Amino acid sequence: MTDPTIAATTTPYWWDDAPVRPIPARTPPRSVDVAIVGAGFAGLSAGLVLAREGRSVAAFDAMNPGEGASTRNGGITSGNIRLDYATMARRFGEARAIAVEAEAHAARKFLARFVAEEGLDCDFQPTGLFKGAIGYRQYDAMARSAEALRKSVGVETYAVPFAEQKTVIGTDFYRGGTVRMDIGGLHPAKFHRELLRIALASGLAVHSGTPVTGIARDGEGFRVATAAGTVRARQVLVCTNGYTDGAAPFLQRRLVPVRSRIIVTEELAPAVMARLMPRRMMISEGRQLGYYYRPTPDGRRILLGGRESGNKGNPIGPSLLMRAGLTEIFPELETVRLSHTWFGNVAMNRDMLPRIFEKEGILYASGFCGSGTVWAPWVGMRAAYRLLGQPARAESAFDFRPPAGIPLYRGDPWFMPTIIQGYRLQDRIAMLRARR
Ligand SMILES: Cc1cc2nc3c(=O)[nH]c(=O)nc-3n(C[C@H](O)[C@H](O)[C@H](O)COP(=O)(O)OP(=O)(O)OC[C@H]3O[C@@H](n4cnc5c(N)ncnc54)[C@H](O)[C@@H]3O)c2cc1C
Repeated sequence: MTDPTIAATTTPYWWDDAPVRPIPARTPPRSVDVAIVGAGFAGLSAGLVLAREGRSVAAFDAMNPGEGASTRNGGITSGNIRLDYATMARRFGEARAIAVEAEAHAARKFLARFVAEEGLDCDFQPTGLFKGAIGYRQYDAMARSAEALRKSVGVETYAVPFAEQKTVIGTDFYRGGTVRMDIGGLHPAKFHRELLRIALASGLAVHSGTPVTGIARDGEGFRVATAAGTVRARQVLVCTNGYTDGAAPFLQRRLVPVRSRIIVTEELAPAVMARLMPRRMMISEGRQLGYYYRPTPDGRRILLGGRESGNKGNPIGPSLLMRAGLTEIFPELETVRLSHTWFGNVAMNRDMLPRIFEKEGILYASGFCGSGTVWAPWVGMRAAYRLLGQPARAESAFDFRPPAGIPLYRGDPWFMPTIIQGYRLQDRIAMLRARR
């Protein structure tokens, strides 16, 4: 890298404290009750439940466990659903829309309880989240939604008018916003490391650096071909999300990997952090391609993430763009240096709802649309109970038909740069209108 303000480190900030590592190699068993493809949050959470219920379970990951999105993310426990309530009700019916909102609330509470009860050392911080409005009309709509959410689901949420904004965030960039207190942050690589620790201790066998290359029906069960040999499995669960490859072609045609990039600043002076992020909250915004950002768990740096328009190329251009986004929000960071920048894949499907679904006997749990810190552990757990035949514990608003296939798409998201540019343009126009 030539620009001194651009980060030299292109691995996740989180790996400084909790690096991803291979699991010592061992030969996979000839047969298991359940084979899981992918050892991120979803695969491990499912494996933990299954192993604790006495099943023999092997999870295979093509990379080091967690090296997909699970240790690359912002660690914001958003449990966000991209569709607003009205759109969900129109597309899927009112009953599913209510069930999704209620499940989001339950899933966030589950994560907090799970971390506490299992004693997971992962810097879990229930700080709350501030969502900034880009104009006063958006602020009014957000304030109304917050009020409705408080009444219908009982979430502690409230509007923050522009005049009071600096009590939450040190910028004039937004025109007010809303706070919800059921969202916070964690250290994703520590969380994954802890999940792996308890899953291994419960008897889950994890095979790292072992891609699954094909899954075929074999009588009542399946033959799972891996780089280390073939395993017979009674049941198969696919948890590959934004890293889905040709081993799961049905899912691959339904999920679009979208690159998300994160930048982290150098350490900032305590007085600067106190001014910019006085309540240490997680932050999101009302733009289509809104940034998500937060203080690092030690409160010394700012970590900011957003969508990247290309899926190829070096990190300099995208990092500079994100740095410009950061300084637009916090002009006083004009000269700040970055310490880290990296990217990972999130997985979008056509209707923007996470999913558990079955196709030809294989169960899939994926499609977290950039919000899997809450959803992936939750959906993985629900999928495990479905495999165990425990319908009451498996019940989920996300367990329904597969997402629709994407026309002319076989795994190479050639159309994404155009879509991202389109959103960027829409955001610019919305900002101009809002500020007139
Ligand atoms: C930069 C970034 C920032 C994000 N920020 C947030 C955030 O702040 N809050 C939030 O809620 N969410 C965030 N997310 C999303 C979140 O990280 C994901 O939704 C979540 O980690 C998905 O977990 P997973 O277990 O489903 O998938 P992953 O962790 O991606 O794991 C999938 C695994 O499948 C493996 N795999 C794929 N194919 C095969 C195969 N054929 N054989 C074997 N293994 C295979 C891969 O190697 C990979 O390890 C972010 C994501 C990114 C990339």
